[in-house]
Amino acid sequence: MSCIFCKIVSGDIPSKKVYEDEKVYAFRDINPQAPIHILVIPKEHRMDSVFNVDESNSELVAACFEAIAKIAKKEGLENGFRVITNSGADGGQTVNHLHFHLLAGKKLGEKMV
Ligand code: AMP
Ligand code: ZN
Repeated sequence: MSCIFCKIVSGDIPSKKVYEDEKVYAFRDINPQAPIHILVIPKEHRMDSVFNVDESNSELVAACFEAIAKIAKKEGLENGFRVITNSGADGGQTVNHLHFHLLAGKKLGEKMV
């Protein structure tokens, strides 16, 4: 097993846990791009990115977004936040285990979309 996010889920690599349930693990990004930068991942590595999402595994995407809503409330993000997922080389993905960046804590920069 070489995936660093799988190693974070198993505890082989330490992380600053923010949230955990049966399907989802969330932790602070090691190189934060905003005052609050949390990574939300499915515990099971069933897809590398959104590119691999299909009807057999999309329940994990739903679980991640349910977790994001809970974390947003727990972290007091009533003023707003942004969720980003990078997919593949052109998308800037560096870790090939599906993950969602939750960014908040300031007025975020110019939108791309
Ligand atoms: P991406 O570039 O979209 O694939 O996002 C990968 C993210 O994982 C980057 O924001 C990294 O800073 C973050 N990251 C890499 N290794 C670790 C780690 N050991 N603990 C926490 N975050 C990490
Ligand atoms: Zn993994």
